[in-house]
Amino acid sequence: MFNRILIANRGEIALRIIRACRELGVESVCVYSEADKDAPYLKLCDRAICIGPAAAKESYLNIARIIAAAEIADVDAIHPGYGFLSERAEFAQACRDCGIEFIGPTPEAMARLGDKVACKNAAKEAGVPIFPGSPGAIEDEEEAVKVAHKIGFPVIIKASAGGGGRGMRVCHNEMTLRANIKAASTEALAAFGNGAVFIEKYLEHAQHVEIQVIGDKHGNAIHLWERNCSVQRRHQKLIEEAPSPGLTREKIRPVCEAAVRLIKLAKYHGAATCEFLMDGKQDFYMLEVNTRVQVEHPVTEMITGVDIVKTMIRVCAGEKLPYSQDEIKVHGHAIECRINAEDPARNFMPQPGTITTWQPPGGPGVRMDTHVVTGYTVPKYYDSMVAKLIVHDDSRELCINRTARALREYKVEPIKTTVPLHLRLMENTDFRKGGVDIHFLERLLK
Ligand code: ADP
Repeated sequence: MFNRILIANRGEIALRIIRACRELGVESVCVYSEADKDAPYLKLCDRAICIGPAAAKESYLNIARIIAAAEIADVDAIHPGYGFLSERAEFAQACRDCGIEFIGPTPEAMARLGDKVACKNAAKEAGVPIFPGSPGAIEDEEEAVKVAHKIGFPVIIKASAGGGGRGMRVCHNEMTLRANIKAASTEALAAFGNGAVFIEKYLEHAQHVEIQVIGDKHGNAIHLWERNCSVQRRHQKLIEEAPSPGLTREKIRPVCEAAVRLIKLAKYHGAATCEFLMDGKQDFYMLEVNTRVQVEHPVTEMITGVDIVKTMIRVCAGEKLPYSQDEIKVHGHAIECRINAEDPARNFMPQPGTITTWQPPGGPGVRMDTHVVTGYTVPKYYDSMVAKLIVHDDSRELCINRTARALREYKVEPIKTTVPLHLRLMENTDFRKGGVDIHFLERLLK
């Protein structure tokens, strides 16, 4: 096992990793920006090093400064969390060059699965169901039109290097496709430094279902079943749950097994998520692979009992996976509500500022993953998520009731949060029925 791990992240995930390190008997070192200097979780790690000003480019996204901190603190490994540098192969490579273990896949495995076009090709080889679409990056307009007519409109143009729901364009006919293809490529080049775009079939009514997988360095890999993350706004997830409502184990098992084949093919170690869209017939089409721990990993932890963060640290330290596939059992149901410092009544406007009342819920089956305490000031520079409320119970219905109960206990003042919206969702008939699609929330808010 490692002696000391540097956490190249902030907020709740930094605290989540500190806790995992503590339980494994490993020292943790946090890096922080000037905006986070008073963050309470910095007192829970073994050492904290300031790496620069508030702007992420000069701190949490600055590879040279993070590596310098890692050398000063003499760490064996770096955990990147999610967001920031977690999916940047050049960061994994910089760690390798300095003899520091990156807690995640190798740069090669990351490049293979992180690039959408490369990933689709690997998925095809592994027998993972994918969308009909262009076989690779689209070279010119005529090719795009030919492919679109073959698969049928509507189609979606995506950037191979895309992420965060940015730069996608839905085209319902040839004219809009012709008008958009060049612009999409130019935009992709500006946003991601790579102009490669491709097209695939656009699914109008879909649910988002993703598979959690984890592999070790000895060629073993298992899945931890699925999560449903269909409650989204602007492609950002707001609620995640597991198991997916209305899905039998028989139906989802082959998809899970395909996801395991894919990460084995890529010689992948660490945690990964294969994201799919599911249509009304419960057919699956892979969207992409996230080569890191996900925000919503706790729902899977709650139904399987597997500590995903500790397991990824253990496998990256060279241990064999501590579980076989047969040992992974699903118990009950779990729901995660992302609590964001945003005002849902004013188009989700960010709400930075000092929190004077912070009264989180508790009781049976309630887990709060948060770095916030009373008196905490939400900085304006970063993501607005301030907490994750994760609730577990025996069935989906009981879990929804318990989540509603927890949300009613939850008091945050004076900033606005997504708490009241979550409560409204727990009481919504369509959500309670299960099976809402990815446009459900946007329709509800109209
Ligand atoms: P990103 O990497 O930018 O997050 P994804 O490929 O994961 O992009 O897609 C993000 C979201 O965009 C999906 O969750 C879904 O809501 C929508 N989307 C992407 N591809 C399709 C598609 N082929 N059909 C319908 N919706 C899609």
